[in-house]
Amino acid sequence: MKLVFASNNPHKLSEIRAMLGSEHDILSLHDIGCQADIPETAETLEGNALQKASYIYERYHCDCFADDTGLEVEALDGRPGVYTARYAGPQCSPEDNIVKLLHEMQGKVNRKAVFRTSICLILQGNVHVFNGIVKGSITEQKKGTDGFGYDPVFAPDETGLTFAEMGVGEKNKISHRARAIQQLKDFLLASRPETFNGNES
Ligand code: IMP
Repeated sequence: MKLVFASNNPHKLSEIRAMLGSEHDILSLHDIGCQADIPETAETLEGNALQKASYIYERYHCDCFADDTGLEVEALDGRPGVYTARYAGPQCSPEDNIVKLLHEMQGKVNRKAVFRTSICLILQGNVHVFNGIVKGSITEQKKGTDGFGYDPVFAPDETGLTFAEMGVGEKNKISHRARAIQQLKDFLLASRPETFNGNES
């Protein structure tokens, strides 16, 4: 099955290709000749994922999906949430975001946070949404060197280590994105025509 993933991010593409397996041919925006900077102007993660997937479906008329991720910090009333990528400003770096987050968290006792990924799939014109979350906490300072984004300051409850201390393989077993992709995978398997009657042959 050919599916377009509305991204050119090589880390996400390889993670998704590895999880979905060879029976799904995952095409990037580059693969379909889409050069656009697809707008993400919704007020929710689901809204942004739907906006990106709809953009592709309306122009390329193919099965496709898109994702959006946010970090929701309890003591900050759920911020940065949908603004996670540009928390410290429109052109900010991941380091700028971490500096701002640690500054806002100074002196906070409640450090609980959740990483959430929404995936929107448009399959034969029908919209399906999947959400993956991982609960954890914001550390007092950066720890570890692996990963990307907020990994050095987010420690999932399962391990007590930050994502940046866990290594990519361990992180990808429990991450918000992996959990959302697993739901997408389960849905795609259940939607296969040959399993429609519970008959694999
Ligand atoms: P996006 O929706 O995947 O582009 O992610 C939005 C923001 O969340 C960006 O600032 C990313 O760096 C950050 N982010 C997404 N996933 C992760 C993760 O697994 N670890 C740390 N930061 C992440």
